[in-house]
Amino acid sequence: MKVKVISVLEDNYMYLVIEESTRDAVAVDAAVPKRLLEIIRKEDVVLRAILTTHHHWDHARGNEELAQLFPGLRVFGADERIGALTHKVTHGQELSFGAIRVRCLFTPCHTSGHMCYFMWEDDSPDAPALFSGDTLFVGGCGQFFEGTAEQMHTNLTQILGTLPEDTVEPENEMVKEKLAWARRDDEDLPTVPSTLHEEFLYNPFLRVTEEPVQRFTGRTDPVEVLRTLRSERDNFKKPKERPNPQAMLAFDWGLFGPFLEKK
Ligand SMILES: [Zn+2]
Repeated sequence: MKVKVISVLEDNYMYLVIEESTRDAVAVDAAVPKRLLEIIRKEDVVLRAILTTHHHWDHARGNEELAQLFPGLRVFGADERIGALTHKVTHGQELSFGAIRVRCLFTPCHTSGHMCYFMWEDDSPDAPALFSGDTLFVGGCGQFFEGTAEQMHTNLTQILGTLPEDTVEPENEMVKEKLAWARRDDEDLPTVPSTLHEEFLYNPFLRVTEEPVQRFTGRTDPVEVLRTLRSERDNFKKPKERPNPQAMLAFDWGLFGPFLEKK
């Protein structure tokens, strides 16, 4: 399994996951068809399916166009609002694409129909990968647009937090460890994957039971800590122009830096 990480729209990513024995490919969050088509051509693979985490345009915008270009393309997701949806999936459902296996993990909160995708190949030395959309990312978590702090807490601790610790998040730019299969398609920003294990060490949204995080929020109940963190982050003034991903990271580190002192 090879994962191509394709940056889109300044601070977002889409992915092309390639089954190397069949040269079939599955896209995750196909937001920009033109970029995706370039990679498909360059890699000489056949696009078989799209997995969409949620209906927001920066994750699903390319679905209709790709469905027209590739008749029979299967589009998976958990929300009727996802464009060109052909297969509605449910929590725990498993899919396979050649040797690639996928488990659907339902994580409603950012949107009410948000699905994460856990992907692996049996008997492969590669670590499994988690495509977490706007539920969990780069030292943070998504905004609670259509859900509650209770739901996000369940998502982070029980649904995603119990996956194997070597699970890779291909989009995370923070961590030094680099796995051979995750390669950025363009050169402008270095991207390396991180693991859930590392995420637990510095992502404040996963550290709601840690004393410094509780001190920062003035709360002790984990759900209340999470709610307060999210609202602090939502209310933090953003610079006028759209910050680049690295500035966003610095922003998150600046805000949550004090929590790092503990470990
Ligand atoms: Zn979103």
